[in-house]
Amino acid sequence: MRLPGIGPKTAQRLAFYVLTMEEDDVLDLSKALVRAKRDLHQCSLCGNITDQDPCYICSDKGRDRSVICVVQDTKDLMAMERTREYNGLYHVLHGAISPIEGVGPEDLRIPDLLKRLEDETVQELILATNPNIEGEATAMYLSRLIKPFGLKVTRIAHGLPVGGDLEYADEVTLTKALEGRREV
Ligand SMILES: [Zn+2]
Repeated sequence: MRLPGIGPKTAQRLAFYVLTMEEDDVLDLSKALVRAKRDLHQCSLCGNITDQDPCYICSDKGRDRSVICVVQDTKDLMAMERTREYNGLYHVLHGAISPIEGVGPEDLRIPDLLKRLEDETVQELILATNPNIEGEATAMYLSRLIKPFGLKVTRIAHGLPVGGDLEYADEVTLTKALEGRREV
């Protein structure tokens, strides 16, 4: 029940399931949990969760080192990777600016990002924080901060979900989609 998204009923179902598992499998599971906790840490360059340092993305010679995509979370990095469309590097902030929750720029991995920009191979920064208030505030803050570096700073497009219906889109999404229109 201490895990996110697990209520009392699910917790009970999982607990009973473990009792039906082979002892070796239960042992493997417990070892995997301990190993994950012990061996995984943040990449010293990008903040990705990794068991090696630098992580497999930062140490991949085949990736485009002129682009850094800034995301809030390691899960966002994984989502971007699943598209197989992006071959640059990442920077994981581990959060977003949120005055309500008391998260300021100093709580995020922003100094590490600035340090990486001093390397002149970086030419573009893609701001891929979430399209909500915190994500937008973070993107705005970063774009102002990074302006003096003279880099190309881009923001991912917001728009309509694939398979969606124009008539059901909210005004903000539709406005953003209109702003982000492109020539065909
Ligand atoms: Zn890395």
